[in-house]
Amino acid sequence: MREMKSILFVITLSVISHWLTFCSPKQVIMAPELDEEALKAKAREIHDRVLTVDTHSDTPSLMLRKEWNIGERHEPGQRRSGKIDLPRMAEGGLDAEFFVVFVGQGERTLEGYTRAKERATVLFDAIHKMCKDYPHLVELAISPEDAYRLEKQGKRAAFIGMENGYPIGKDLSLIEEYYNRGIRYITLCHSSDNDICDSSTDERNPEDNGLSDFGKEVVAECNRLGIMVDVSHISDKSFFDVLEVTKAPVIASHSSIRPLCDHPRNLSDRMLKALAANKGVVHICFVSQFVKKAKPNPDREKALAQLREKYGSWSEVRDENIREKMREEYMDILEKYPMEKATIEDLVDHIDYVVKLIGVDHVGIGTDFDGGGGVEGCDDVSELPHITEELLRRGYSEEEIQKIWGGNLIRVFRKVIEIAKTVGA
Ligand SMILES: [Zn+2]
Repeated sequence: MREMKSILFVITLSVISHWLTFCSPKQVIMAPELDEEALKAKAREIHDRVLTVDTHSDTPSLMLRKEWNIGERHEPGQRRSGKIDLPRMAEGGLDAEFFVVFVGQGERTLEGYTRAKERATVLFDAIHKMCKDYPHLVELAISPEDAYRLEKQGKRAAFIGMENGYPIGKDLSLIEEYYNRGIRYITLCHSSDNDICDSSTDERNPEDNGLSDFGKEVVAECNRLGIMVDVSHISDKSFFDVLEVTKAPVIASHSSIRPLCDHPRNLSDRMLKALAANKGVVHICFVSQFVKKAKPNPDREKALAQLREKYGSWSEVRDENIREKMREEYMDILEKYPMEKATIEDLVDHIDYVVKLIGVDHVGIGTDFDGGGGVEGCDDVSELPHITEELLRRGYSEEEIQKIWGGNLIRVFRKVIEIAKTVGA
């Protein structure tokens, strides 16, 4: 009888589990809209609970515009609104932003280095001014602990990264000077080769010479000071050369995945595996053309070719005013011949890809807002919670979401500081 009972029990269990497996999804879910609402609410809770860090934004260049004020809310979707301001950061639940001091590559001469240093100074001043103007909203952050402390206070953390090592010129001592002004990472180069290393996109000089001897010294100095080395933009050989010499984990502050979107700016499987071995993190970039290849449009291509003819390629335009004009005309062209934008689903596919290949400990978010970043469904900082919704929809746990949204970056940041203590000693 006991045996009979237990057999019956097992049969009942298997019937229930069969029912749960095959029938429950359709019968238990009441109304899809309700479920979507519940998912959004849960996503927002998680989004607000975890530390959210974006490792790359070009917003400091907007801070220089007279008619634009980072302390005011600008309506999303307007051309001159920009993608980030302090009110929208709060709306989008973004706790920490790496604002970048970006200097486009110019002549590798003494005069060029001086100009680059001046431009960097203007951008440093703009970021520091923001913190001075809005002390109740934002504070300069220089350590992982700052980010957690400010999150608790409900203030935004403003970290600083330097995009392009060009303002270092040939003077290693400047790295410490920039560190003292707040930088905590350096993207070694931008779209052209420089004295530190070769770029992934230098059309004029396609030969890949990797990291220079001076570049090796730059990496060593970053390791000594506790500055994260950023491998975004750099060529494949530069990337592997950096991994060979760095004593600390590195980050890619804004790079996507090459097998999903074939572009030299994106990382290959081999690079991702090497990054995992280095214990580093790739922060997925929101620039649509790095997320999904747009369908070709001959009229648009023609207009863009004419723009290049008029001004030269982006990397050739040195003058900031001319760059601004070029950017405006570029936007005009895109308005006239809109490019099909990648979607948030396409973007999260890149996160999934990294997670499947090398694990959830090696991926983060680097929007490149105000530097070209923005996809359908997440086009400005106020829409960042949509990323968390999509992650939750795909079955990511809170712990995993926490890692993606900043936990991984903080792990690298702490390790870089810890190693600096031993290297500098
Ligand atoms: Zn960039």
